[in-house]
Amino acid sequence: MRKKIVAGNWKMNKNFSDGLTLASEVVNIVNDELNDDVIVIMCSPFIHLAQVAKNAQESDKVFVGAQNMSEHTAGAYTGDISAEMIKSVGAEYVILGHSERREYHNETNDQLAKRVDLALEMGLTPIFCCGESLEIRESGKEVSYVCNQLTESLFHLTEDEIQKVVIAYEPIWAIGTGKTASSQQAQDMHKSMRDFLAGQFGQEVADEVSILYGGSAKPDNAKELFAQPDVDGGLIGGASLKARDFVEIAK
Ligand code: PGA
Repeated sequence: MRKKIVAGNWKMNKNFSDGLTLASEVVNIVNDELNDDVIVIMCSPFIHLAQVAKNAQESDKVFVGAQNMSEHTAGAYTGDISAEMIKSVGAEYVILGHSERREYHNETNDQLAKRVDLALEMGLTPIFCCGESLEIRESGKEVSYVCNQLTESLFHLTEDEIQKVVIAYEPIWAIGTGKTASSQQAQDMHKSMRDFLAGQFGQEVADEVSILYGGSAKPDNAKELFAQPDVDGGLIGGASLKARDFVEIAK
């Protein structure tokens, strides 16, 4: 059975000490209150990662991830962070291809394919983000757009490898806007994505891939979204910055 995952994407928020406070609050509340079989991931800025990973050792349900990673292994790439560095501080996940990275840093599907490979080689689990803009949704081409992102960044993987990838569907028009995709819109897209994965890798393999929803997920809409058969959890931005809200979503 595929895993249920709730991952928090802190983005560029929280100074070092506020970030550590948030991380320890999340760990404490999860340990006290979360009984379900859910994996909770905190994707902090790089600055916090080593210490947040130490905090997460206090819980068997909490893991940490980075928000980005270089497609190079090492060398003269000022300001970049490698898969090995991320792994070496105890992080186990890495968000790849968030729409903000694609938009502000021109990350391409090809580049992301290389990062997915490197992450897997290093034993990190990629949380691969995809999703369409409002313009694309209004033109009715959202499914083919998202499937093309999957094709170009993930379809070179083997059946074993694709099962190690977590996919996050994040419609750009719902990110940080307060506009959530309806649970039906999320389910329809997730089902289309799973069918598409099944076409390439077979149904059994596609059924093992966790597909998360992201975009203004909150405590009051999480239940309905996550109740959809093909929605396996969420990638949470704004609401992951408050420990209580974040854990309520996971619950
Ligand atoms: P949001 O962000 O929950 O603030 O909409 C989600 C994301 O970008 O991962």
